[in-house]
Amino acid sequence: MNPAAAPAPGPAAPPRGRLAPSPTGALHLGNARSFLLAWLSVRSRGGTLVLRIEDLDHPKVKPGAAGQAIEDLRWLGLDWDEGPDAGGAQGPYVQSLRRDRYRAALAALRAKGLAYPCVCSRRDVEEAQSAPHGRDPHSLAYPGRCRGRFATWEEAAAALPPDRSPVWRFRAAPGVSAFDDLVLGRRELDLARELGDFALARDPDGAGYQLACVVDDAAMGVTEVLRGDDLVDATHCQLALQAALGLPRPAYAHVPLVVAEDGRRLAKRHGDTRLRALREAGVPAERVVGLLAWWSGLAPFGAELRPADLLPGFSLARLPRGPAVLDARVRALLGVPEPAPAAPR
Ligand code: GLU
Repeated sequence: MNPAAAPAPGPAAPPRGRLAPSPTGALHLGNARSFLLAWLSVRSRGGTLVLRIEDLDHPKVKPGAAGQAIEDLRWLGLDWDEGPDAGGAQGPYVQSLRRDRYRAALAALRAKGLAYPCVCSRRDVEEAQSAPHGRDPHSLAYPGRCRGRFATWEEAAAALPPDRSPVWRFRAAPGVSAFDDLVLGRRELDLARELGDFALARDPDGAGYQLACVVDDAAMGVTEVLRGDDLVDATHCQLALQAALGLPRPAYAHVPLVVAEDGRRLAKRHGDTRLRALREAGVPAERVVGLLAWWSGLAPFGAELRPADLLPGFSLARLPRGPAVLDARVRALLGVPEPAPAAPR
């Protein structure tokens, strides 16, 4: 389906990984840790890296943020072999310039009866759900109410008020989806029951995270995906898409997120942990890398290192599985002030 896809390397071939920042805000310590680990995993085995800018989330994409992400990653001491600034045979490396690929993939899914436009609101989905289920309360299994309802996106759009837009959904097959995560071990999910017909994209051309990620990972010859463990469910969606489109399956590694003392993932109110802010405050990149390494069980607390110092003996199998915590000791190390009190509910 994708003539531009790079040939899949054999088992002994060096890995090809990717760094895939979304230019929706500045990189912070949480993103930085995932990027460092993705870099180490691939570079420690002599592999190559692609930098891909994931700029499809339009209302949230900020002007200048892609350039800033590149600057932040370089400041940390990371590098890549292909990317918007480095060139390469599988470009362009900016998703907003690859819409034709997503349109073709969507057409292939539609031809197989596997994608359809949906007009349901969140409330419709809630009401259609017969029983509550024990997953993340933010995720609702979509029961397929709009399956077979509209022949085209335009027809679906016409059924909505002008301020709302349809969404493309994937027709999830029953059965258990499974993969062996390089960090978390075996992961299983009954996709149809737990997530239902998941959303592919909120864009008529299919230019949305799930479809774009799968199409690009294949086209760019990516053999290893390392990212935050908030994307484990997305991986099950992406495996289903790879199978439907006949694309190769990379190896997956999900690393725990960085959280604050309250156990929540880092947010603005936990203090300014943007790399740019740390750099401007005079924190050396080596101290930040040392902290990311300490969080990953790779260095003693307070070490100052370059990423390349961590290459010898690096192994994903030895990573701690618990979350990395931005606690008082880390704040003191970086000069990040105490968090503001949480907003009253
Ligand atoms: N663009 C996503 C992010 O910055 C990463 C998605 C992925 O690695 O698949 O969080």
